[in-house]
Formats: sequence, C-alpha cells, structure tokens
Amino acid sequence: MLPRVAFAARNSLRSLRTGVQPGDKTRLVIETATRPSYSLSYTATQLIVNLSNTASNPGASASLASNGLAKSIAQAQNGDSLQLIVELKKPIAQIPKSQIMILEPNGDSDYRLVLDFAAGSGASPTTYTTSSAATTTAVTASRKYIVVVDAGHGGKDPGCIGKGGTREKDVVLSVAKKLKNKLDANGFKTYLTRNNDTYLKLAERAAIAEQRKADLFISLHANANPSRKMKGFSIYTLSEKASDEEAKKLAEAENAADKIGVEGFTQFEENIRIALSSLQQHAVAEMSEEYANGCAKSFKRADIEQQPGPDVRHAPFAVLRSTVPGALLELGHLSNASEEKLLKSGKHQDKLVNAIVRSVKNYNFEV
Ligand SMILES: [Zn+2]
Repeated sequence: MLPRVAFAARNSLRSLRTGVQPGDKTRLVIETATRPSYSLSYTATQLIVNLSNTASNPGASASLASNGLAKSIAQAQNGDSLQLIVELKKPIAQIPKSQIMILEPNGDSDYRLVLDFAAGSGASPTTYTTSSAATTTAVTASRKYIVVVDAGHGGKDPGCIGKGGTREKDVVLSVAKKLKNKLDANGFKTYLTRNNDTYLKLAERAAIAEQRKADLFISLHANANPSRKMKGFSIYTLSEKASDEEAKKLAEAENAADKIGVEGFTQFEENIRIALSSLQQHAVAEMSEEYANGCAKSFKRADIEQQPGPDVRHAPFAVLRSTVPGALLELGHLSNASEEKLLKSGKHQDKLVNAIVRSVKNYNFEV
C-alpha cells in the first residue's frame, strides 16, 4: 500500500511581467519551472489565472508596464493551486485561445505562459470561489463563437469548371449558405465573405475574418485534377512550405485568383502582416492543425470519399494568411464526372454541411 503523503506542488512560479504589444494589447508573461497547467476566470475588474500544482513565490515580484492594462498582480495559494489575481485598469474581453501561448524553455527563460489581452466590453464575470477547498473553476463560454465561412472564387472568377458545366464558385456558394444557416442554428455566429456572385481578393477574405474577430475561418473550394479519375475531398492548412508537389500546385492555382485584375486591397494585407507576430503564427498554426484534423475525421465518419494521401496537407494559401485559425476545404473534384454530379446535388451538399458542422462543434475553441 502506498503511504498517504501530503501533496507537494510540482511546479513553481519564477517571474511575472507585463508588456505592451501592437494594437493596444497587454502581454502577461508568467514564467514557471515546469510546463504550466492553468485555467482562466474573470470578474469585472480582475483576470484570475489559476495554476494547478504550483507553489507561490513571494520573491517573484511582478514587473508591470505602466501603460499596460494590469494595475497589480497578487499571488494567492489555494490548496495546491496558485492564483494570480490581476487587477485591471479597464474591463477586458475574454481572452481567445489564439492569444494564449505556452513557450518552451529557451536561453535564460523557463516555461512561459503568455496571454495577450485588450480592453473590451468586459468578459462576463465567472463566479470564482477563493475558498480553501482547491477547486478549479473553468471558464464558462458566455459568448457565441464566431465562424467566417468563405465561398471561394466568385464574379469574374468561376474557379474550376466540370465537364457538365458546374462551376466551383456556384457549388461553394450554395454549400456556404447552407453551412451558415446550420451553424447559426447550432449557436454559432456565422458570417460569409460573400453571399452572392461577387469577386473578392484573397487578402480581403482574410481581412473579413480579422474584422469580424473570428474564432475560426473555413474556406470552401472544389478541385480539378488532370486525371479525371481523381476523386475525394482534401483539407489544407497554411504553411509557407508546401507538404507535397500537388499541394504546392493547388495553392498556386487557388492563389492565382488574385491575378484577375481588380483594384487591389494591399492595405488589408499590410495590416494583417503587422498583426501577425511569430508567436501568434505558431499558436494559430497549431489550432488550425487541430481543427483540420478533426474536420478530416468528421468527413471520413460521414463516409465522404477522401482523396488518397494524408488527412491534412499544407501549402501557402494566401486566403489563410491571418491571425484566425482555419482551414481550406476542397470538397471534391469537379473534374470527376460522378463527383461533379454529387457536388451539384442538394443531398450531397447537406452531407458535406453536416460533416463540417460536426467538425466545428467538436473543435475546442477554449483552452
Ligand atoms: Zn478554388
């Protein structure tokens, strides 16, 4: 029999600091000896970071940026958990997952939990008890998650065209509209980048996701392949390096939509580049990967034919360059006669929509 021993906290706090990031964001950096396990809570004037299995460290004084949103940070030991109580100058919005990172030790630094937050209308207060019983209160989702659905191509850009004349831009618009209705019915707030036959630049689509402060971005496409036998869906996330030659060609084909001459939206692209720090890029890439893998699973579970190859591929799709996690879905091949028929049919479109809705419902929006 194992002896009952008092539980010793495994982790310890090393340092606390805040800084100011572009876009009036305050960055809180919590350095710990081992990988932190945490939850967040909010009151009207406080952000509370609960670190489980962590010992307080009175010597770890907080270094706070004077122009940041944090007024002071207090430590409170709550059983095996350490609570960091951040007093705020202004209410903040609930911190989205994409603004939270855990960094591995490097150089002089140990593990760091990094949270970026901005003043907002205020996260709905979550009740938090500071009783001696070590209970962790998880953040309760109090707002609707925002999904931006992008129907690829449009207007003067038809996308690919099947032998039977089916145009990619029409198929994906039809699926996008159905998807919006079904996601909204499932409690999400969904925006379309286009809801009619109009042409949009790729960077403008990404900018819509930014402006809507989306939690997830889904770009819908259909494929064409020189081999008319090629069938099945495929799912992509952003990477500046393509995972294979085919993914590279596909990204080139999809990105070519921007070469169709209209007035540019270079300003959007400029703004997005500024917003993306390398840390954020890393977090966004991880979340996109998580979503894309879940989406592939959901499609397979729905018995939707998959193009041979890996579940998730990577390529430099311009439309995915933003701070919003997301994926590009090639729903099937219009170059294949039987799949062209399927993609046109309302029944098959519903099947696709249901699989995507399931993937969104299963995606872990919260930390
Ligand atoms: Zn396309």
